[in-house]
Amino acid sequence: MKHFLEFDSKLVRNQPNLPERELFHELVDQIWDRNWLTNDGPLVRQLERELEVVTGAAHAVAVANGTLGLMVAAKALSIDGDFICPSFTFVATAHALYWQGGDPIFCDVSPRSFNLDPDGVHVERDRFTTGIVATQVFGTPLDPELREVADEYHVPILVDSAHALGCGLPILGDAEVLSLHATKVAHACEGGAILTNSPDIAEKCRLFRQFGFQGQANVVSEGINAKLSELHAAMGLLSLRDLEAQISHNREEYLEYMRGLQGISQVNLCLTGRNYHYVPIMVDDRDDLAAYLLSKGVLARRYFYPGCHRCEPYRSFNPHLSLPHTESLCDRILILPNHSAGNVSSIIKEFYHA
Ligand SMILES: *Cc1c(COP(=O)(O)O)cnc(C)c1O
Repeated sequence: MKHFLEFDSKLVRNQPNLPERELFHELVDQIWDRNWLTNDGPLVRQLERELEVVTGAAHAVAVANGTLGLMVAAKALSIDGDFICPSFTFVATAHALYWQGGDPIFCDVSPRSFNLDPDGVHVERDRFTTGIVATQVFGTPLDPELREVADEYHVPILVDSAHALGCGLPILGDAEVLSLHATKVAHACEGGAILTNSPDIAEKCRLFRQFGFQGQANVVSEGINAKLSELHAAMGLLSLRDLEAQISHNREEYLEYMRGLQGISQVNLCLTGRNYHYVPIMVDDRDDLAAYLLSKGVLARRYFYPGCHRCEPYRSFNPHLSLPHTESLCDRILILPNHSAGNVSSIIKEFYHA
């Protein structure tokens, strides 16, 4: 499958959104003048305040990337043993917790929402778990019943919200983690944030983010370095300022795909979150279609092939685990670029002789 890795800058593909260069230069000048580069600087704090406004969370704690955000938040919630987790997610969801001693129990997703199926979680009721980790895939909402399941088990929920910025979803988890990676709807090149309504969890995350330091000299807990720099925060602030414009652009593209793909019976355009950042389609001959698009200069991506439970190290631990809905999605989902919708639709039409 080598052709999925080859990269050509002329390909039609999802690309990072860049704010106006001059605006970035202005913020960089301010950083130079202050000579305050990292350690809870003013731009990081401003980014946190603005993320609180956009998401409605009481507390946002900026971190260096989403993966470190998951690690820090899991630690703050004491999800440190077996944990329930979907396999239909980016591998970072499982990796982040496994890295610090957690053990994923992969559960199947609902074929309609793509998200963790509360009924599947119930099947695992006999195994002691320390928490539920759930991804809002493509920015779609989690089943609220997950909250009831978590309360019944007396375990916390950690939500991987890496796709969900701007989707207007309620805070369902005890902590939720945004990614501000360059590929996301708004970004800081690399970055992320932990969202929570609990002041205690926010406080713990702030401690863990900076080696367990309270003030300048007191180390009061374990910790790691998950700090975001001022340069990254500058990019994050400007990108966040463009969020609404980006979403309305994405929405137009999605509607254009709806029109363009209408009437191709083999193609099912799937629901997506309200930031319209991901354009998922479901097709039976996905790999052939992807190869055809690539031959026409379009890079469409196979999310989250082959599924975490079929990636190492998890595959070797449980080689016979079967998750039918997850595997079916992993074999059929293709993410189209969120621009050039008209052009890409007509190539897909061509492929199906529609
Ligand atoms: C991007 C992503 C992550 C990882 O975020 P980084 O900021 O790249 O570390 C985790 N989970 C999901 C679902 C993602 O899409």
